[in-house]
Amino acid sequence: MDSQPKVSNRLPCKSTGNQEATAVPAGEAMIAGGDRRTTFSEADRLQAQGAERIRVPRRRDPVSKHSQAGKSRMARIVIKFGGTSVADIERIKSVALRVKAEADAGNEVAVVVSAMAGVTNQLIDHVHAASPLYDLREYDAVVSSGENVTAGLLAIVLQGMGVAARSWQGWQIPVLTDSAHGSARIEGIETAELARRLESGEVAVVAGFQGVEPERNRITTLGRGGSDTSAVALAAALSADRCDIYTDVEGVYTSDPRIVKGARKLDRITYEEMLEMASLGAKVLQTRSVEMAMKHGVRIQVRSSFVDLPGTLVVDEDEIVEQAVVSGVTYSRDEAKITLRAVPDRPGVAASIFGPLAEAAINVDMIVQNISSREKTTDLTFTVPRSELERAVAVLERHAEVISHLDLAAEESVVKVSVIGVGMRSHAGVAQTMFSTLAEKGINIQVISTSEIKISVLIAEDYLELALRSLHTAYGLDED
Ligand code: ADP
Ligand code: ASP
Ligand code: MG
Repeated sequence: MDSQPKVSNRLPCKSTGNQEATAVPAGEAMIAGGDRRTTFSEADRLQAQGAERIRVPRRRDPVSKHSQAGKSRMARIVIKFGGTSVADIERIKSVALRVKAEADAGNEVAVVVSAMAGVTNQLIDHVHAASPLYDLREYDAVVSSGENVTAGLLAIVLQGMGVAARSWQGWQIPVLTDSAHGSARIEGIETAELARRLESGEVAVVAGFQGVEPERNRITTLGRGGSDTSAVALAAALSADRCDIYTDVEGVYTSDPRIVKGARKLDRITYEEMLEMASLGAKVLQTRSVEMAMKHGVRIQVRSSFVDLPGTLVVDEDEIVEQAVVSGVTYSRDEAKITLRAVPDRPGVAASIFGPLAEAAINVDMIVQNISSREKTTDLTFTVPRSELERAVAVLERHAEVISHLDLAAEESVVKVSVIGVGMRSHAGVAQTMFSTLAEKGINIQVISTSEIKISVLIAEDYLELALRSLHTAYGLDED
């Protein structure tokens, strides 16, 4: 029996960094009762520690693994199609032709599909309309269903084309996850039956974005954009030769091509840069999928569903010959700013603010503390996900007596703009270019944060497009 439903009206919209790490040895493949099960605990553990730029050596070279085995088949591949690529039956038919071509070429093919465009949003709206307070387990039961529909439809279309195919839901494989409903992490995939069927020539059509939490036997979902992670995890567990992510743009660009018209498609990008770009807002790949690919040495190619052109390969740093100083400019609108004014400037005050927020699983990102006034008080500004602002304010108000600030100001119309590049490690002046470019355009920087390969600034949302375009030009990224 399940325990009492946990009622919540919020979903974790970002990794909160406080999920419990599992005790399984680091990223090891686990042999369980004859089934091959790959665990992903190490990447999870690193993520749980807040390590976004994990760097893990490749476990094996999947391509040579198969050629060494001396088998005659071409390759084992995982291909993933996002929502726009399967938006209607016509598109599902054209996806099926692509899948058929791969299967006809002698490849073992596992296809991972997203829900048809707009369906997940619609399902989420239904949940919200059903009740402002809801059980996250039922949320998962509802929103995971979009992928089931696509998987079934694609299997039907493939069968109609004479391709042996069947659909697989997460629980049927099973894709085992933890119990963080709405944002679950994959802990293992049992691939024995799937692999056997692939070897027999059957195409597996896998519903992305979903798994099962084995303890209570409940369906889970992996967070928005989670089908990317399903695909990479499956590729790792199946030791696939390739993982192709088909989407509605031609690859990974220097900036969002829908906003920056001069954005250029990158032929290659390093795992590290892709990880930063994803976590700083470029939704072309879910952050966890990049972490997992990096950890397990999965070769990802992001490419277009609509034009047959090479896309972007996500690779190790040593596979990039000429490295630009800045590879990309990203943005995130999921930001809100809180300022606590006249906070007493004494030891323990930061803990009194950020402790309760962490306990409430609210992810605080950028932080800036002003110098003390003569009255020995200070102003503290920080950012939280916009979707968590209301809850963050409520938490701070509950602790107002301990924090003893004068007042609190919350602002939603801010965005984070970031420039990313591994070349920053060896080049000076990257930050200065960012600051002077924004200054020339009269854009005020509200908060700054940096790491070895990125610089982020918080600015007013009204200036987002201007900032992106000017920075793109300033770093020489515009298409010739
Ligand atoms: P899918 O449904 O195929 O998973 P998504 O909508 O999740 O596709 O991701 C693709 C979208 O990501 C593109 O349409 C594009 O607008 C956006 N995007 C943001 N930044 C980038 C970037 N740097 N490169 C490519 N696409 C980007
Ligand atoms: N359908 C899910 C979403 O919209 C998962 C995905 O598309 O990757 O977030
Ligand atoms: Mg996506």
